[in-house]
Amino acid sequence: SLTVAIVGRANVGKSTLFNKLVGRKLALVHDTPGVTRDRREAPATLGPLTFTVIDTAGIEAGGKDSLELRMAAQSYAAVADADVCLFVFDAREGIVTADQIVAQYLRKAGKPVVLVANKCEARFSSASEAWSLGFGEPLQISAEHNIGFADILEALMPFAEQADADDKAAEDEANKPLRLAIVGRPNVGKSSLFNLLLGSERALTGPEAGITRDAIAAHWQAEGRDILLHDTAGLRKKARVAGHTLEEMSVGSTLDAVRFADCVVVVIDATQPFEKQDLIIADLIEREGRAILFAVNKFDLLENKAGAISKLRDKLDASLPQVAGAPLIATSATTGEGLDRLLPAVLAADRAWNARVPTATLNRFLEDALERHAPPAVSGRRVKIRYMTQPKSRPPTFALFGNQLDALPDAYIRYLTNGLRDTFHLEGTPLRFLLRSTK
Ligand code: GDP
Repeated sequence: SLTVAIVGRANVGKSTLFNKLVGRKLALVHDTPGVTRDRREAPATLGPLTFTVIDTAGIEAGGKDSLELRMAAQSYAAVADADVCLFVFDAREGIVTADQIVAQYLRKAGKPVVLVANKCEARFSSASEAWSLGFGEPLQISAEHNIGFADILEALMPFAEQADADDKAAEDEANKPLRLAIVGRPNVGKSSLFNLLLGSERALTGPEAGITRDAIAAHWQAEGRDILLHDTAGLRKKARVAGHTLEEMSVGSTLDAVRFADCVVVVIDATQPFEKQDLIIADLIEREGRAILFAVNKFDLLENKAGAISKLRDKLDASLPQVAGAPLIATSATTGEGLDRLLPAVLAADRAWNARVPTATLNRFLEDALERHAPPAVSGRRVKIRYMTQPKSRPPTFALFGNQLDALPDAYIRYLTNGLRDTFHLEGTPLRFLLRSTK
């Protein structure tokens, strides 16, 4: 759905406009610049259009250097969240430096902007000046006197249509089958698990309706989701020569399976857990950016089952911190143990991989994380993180904006990674960071 941010310097009438659009007095309106400090967000209606409107804190003049004007982090976040910005200025006062600074920021942010001249109840004389902001001719409105709202509606309409189209595309994406692969060293029980999984799904769905197989994939439905399971030759009945399988662990076929997949189950042998090859495979999956979980198979062979998983947890988190917290499911292809937990865990990892954290929520998290533990100064360079967004998912990718971010230590990224995982339940997916320094 459409999200609209109201942006502009202090006291141009942003809150009044917000209140009119929302129809309730949510924002505190006051005649002192800078009174509306916090971001407010509410459902709004304008004729046939419903959308989310975000009111932002204005920019405020910074102490001694009047040109160094700061925009609150919430304003950045609001712009990042919005499909379109209503950039409001005060028509009675004309264009002032602070408006130019907002304009400069908005041009950099790259979001569509609708320029709005507010307080136009009497006459509008700053029309030519307004062009200098670079956003064309302003709509002339008076929020307080209910003038010009039809023009706002007309201006927002195309963006609403675009937002609807985007929603539909996202929905189509979510309805695509979940592509799953099962990988691991030879003899850990991949084909046994694979066949058992297909067998149990066949039992659930019936012999006919259920599963289709072709050369590369088996296809069925689980919990309302289409599952497409990569069916490598290695998972099929294998030629056995004198009791040995001919399959070697081939990096090539593992890579093929990983690249095919959204989500990868790494089967490991509970009696020989996390050998070097297991870690190489897991690392490959992480680098390819796929959702990942582990089936700790042959669990029936363990004599000491109690505490085994939590020991493995520690080992995994220490040897592969990039996938810390990835689900570990104890399974046995012999007894069937744990098989019922495998698909739900796959679906959960896939949800984490697809997760989108709204910008406002993300910046509340960031504020808290920074307060607990600020980034250290590195050889005298002051690193400053101003705000963050999540530009994409699959896997979740976060953009950090600030100054001197190239000096941000890896340990700090790990600190943020762990925090994000805990707070937003992102276990079972790699996370990515993009560093966007402005100086
Ligand atoms: P793959 O090479 O990874 O596909 O492994 P297979 O599925 O061919 O299994 C290798 C051997 O381990 C076979 O002899 C299986 O019967 C045995 N096996 C597989 N899963 C289990 C299990 O959970 N428990 C026990 N005890 N044996 C298993």
